[in-house]
Amino acid sequence: MGRLTQNQPFDVQDRLIPKVGSGDKILFWQDKWVENRPLHERFPNLYVLESEKGCKVSDRYKVGQHGIEWFWGSNNALTSEDLLCEWADCISAVKEVNIQETSDVWLWKTGSVTSDSMVKTIRGELDHINVLNETKVLKWLHWIPKKVNCFLWRVVLDRIATKEALQIRRINLSSLQCVLCNNEVESVNHLLMTSESAQLVWSLIFQWMNIPLPGYILSVVQLLETIDSHSWQKKIKRAVYVVVAATCWNLRLMRNECIFKNKSPNITNLIGNIKAISYTWIKNRAGLQEIIWEKWRSFSF
Ligand SMILES: [Zn+2]
Repeated sequence: MGRLTQNQPFDVQDRLIPKVGSGDKILFWQDKWVENRPLHERFPNLYVLESEKGCKVSDRYKVGQHGIEWFWGSNNALTSEDLLCEWADCISAVKEVNIQETSDVWLWKTGSVTSDSMVKTIRGELDHINVLNETKVLKWLHWIPKKVNCFLWRVVLDRIATKEALQIRRINLSSLQCVLCNNEVESVNHLLMTSESAQLVWSLIFQWMNIPLPGYILSVVQLLETIDSHSWQKKIKRAVYVVVAATCWNLRLMRNECIFKNKSPNITNLIGNIKAISYTWIKNRAGLQEIIWEKWRSFSF
């Protein structure tokens, strides 16, 4: 998954504006129908819990005695106070939009109406891309903390606020260089996969897991796809996924500590942290309580 294929259809979508009617054609989470930004970007924690990611706006409200009533329609319940607050924020955002009885219409930014078949074609392309990405990430939904899951979900969609990403959004920065090597533009894939320090970390981590590091991996998505294609035992695969998640998360933490706390990168510490945190996750969340630290340290279980 290169940047190009991901960005092209989104550019097309950027030029289409939905005019909300009853919400019968507009996708609740994915279309830009509230303040020109998709709700899944504003509320990633809620989106992770949505069981029907492609639901329409009209699937998430009913007309009651007091007018439009929005409801949480996912099969996955909102279980924490934080999530309930987020959902309340989401409702107050969508309440600003005027729901009408007419059908939704798509407009080009010039103001002319677009045919439904055109929208269908564009959406077809978008769906193809999203489905591929989501299936990979959602695999580890319950095995890692939610904030890490959201982080990875954004990594896969290339929505991490790296220097390169901020530049694209026209935020001025003094330098685009990666803080760790000071040598290349900091992109998600550079930071997490292709930079020298990332490569070193991955090779050490794969050595520890006693699995050959796949060659020519240029992105996290590619790595996930490669792991997915293996016919390992379920338990092993699960452990490998958790370790990959822990590695991405810790690489990002190290980068932040270098930028915001002026620390220098320490690969030995990083490797230790990855082993420790993945042990906690695998033990407490992945249903493998029988694992003990001595065994995990040599990745045998
Ligand atoms: Zn670098």
